[in-house]
Order: sequence, then structure tokens, then C-alpha cells
Amino acid sequence: MRVLVVEDERRLAVALQRGLQSEGFSVDVAHDGPQGLWMATEHDYDLIVLDIMLPGLNGYRICAKLRAAGNESGILMLTAKDGEYDEAEALDTGADDFLSKPFSYLVLVARLRALGRRTGGRRPQVLRFGDLLIDPARRTCSRGATEIRLTAREFAILEYLGRRSGEVVSKRDILEQVWDAAFDGDPNVVEVHVSAVRRKVDAPFGRAALETVRGAGYRLAADGG
Ligand code: CA
Repeated sequence: MRVLVVEDERRLAVALQRGLQSEGFSVDVAHDGPQGLWMATEHDYDLIVLDIMLPGLNGYRICAKLRAAGNESGILMLTAKDGEYDEAEALDTGADDFLSKPFSYLVLVARLRALGRRTGGRRPQVLRFGDLLIDPARRTCSRGATEIRLTAREFAILEYLGRRSGEVVSKRDILEQVWDAAFDGDPNVVEVHVSAVRRKVDAPFGRAALETVRGAGYRLAADGG
């Protein structure tokens, strides 16, 4: 099972990584909020261990953003103090479970295993737009019998549009969901990547599933198949 640990206390993060690896988990670590959000968006984790107090972006906001983007990884939040308020807020933002610091390592492993079993069944389903198939779990995309190779960024854009099927999605939304929260470059970067996606999923097949809605954004709909 693939786990992301988002924790800024380095010693704790390293201890968790080693400990969970020895239990057979495959573990990546992020040391601040923006990095955690970026990694959770860019890669496909079964489970995320999320600290609340993080530099750059707190755990509540990371969790809320991931859920808004359709991320269904099992999320266990590490609450800093043993307070009802923290725990209620953790669950409110879409976390599946929480554990108060300091915690027993054995309890953490047991909770993660239980969470993995619970959330394993809600892995994202294949998104279909006519004969265009997007498989978020396997990170594959195909049109009819043709497998389409997309970069991680292109895939994330297509998946996000796919999850908001039929809706017009603004460039800003795409930027917020697909690029990390700290991105402050040129929003036209979205256009460049959308064009790249279109050249792969539409143009070679004479289709126009990925529409530009002038002045508003983009929409993915079935076209053919
Ligand atoms: Ca912290």
C-alpha cells in the first residue's frame, strides 16, 4: 500500500517512514503543506497521514482541497492537541480518521491497515466519455483500442475535467487543483497543457471532446464512440 506522510517534524517523519516501510508500506514523505498537496495531487496514494500544523498550508486546507478535487485516498489526520475541536474539524474537512499526538506507533499502524481496508473499495472508477476512457486508479487513458500516453500533468487535467463532467471548469480552478497552491506563474500555462491534451485525446481521432468555452474555461463531454 502506498502511503504519503505529511509531517514537518523531521525526526517524527523519518521514524514514521522507516517504521511503516518495515511494515510493508511504500512510504513517501513531504515536509511542508504545499509539498504535501503537490505530492498527493501528482501521485496516487492509498493512504495519507496528514499533520495539521504545517508550514505553508495547514492539514485542514490540504484535506479540503484534495476532497474538492475528487481525491479519495484514505486520510488520517494527526491532531496536535487532544481537543474535540480539532477532531471535529478534521472529520469536517473530509478526513477519515484522526489520531492525537503523542500516539502509539502500533495504534497508528493498526488504524492505517483498517483505513486501507475501508477505503480500498472506493478507488476511483473509470471515467467514460463515449469511447474516451480515463482510469484514475491505473493512471491510463485510451480512445477506443488506442492507448494514449499523457504526462502526469496532462493526466491530472483530463481527470479533473472528467470528474466535473459536463461542467465548465475555469482556468483558475484547473490551476488550483492541478498545480500546487504556491503556484504564482502565468495562468496561461493551463492553455498550453490543455492544448497538449487535446492533441493527444482529440485531434488524432477527429474529435472535439475537450471544448473551450470562450471566456469561461473548458468542458469535457462525450464526442463520438
Ligand atoms: Ca507540525
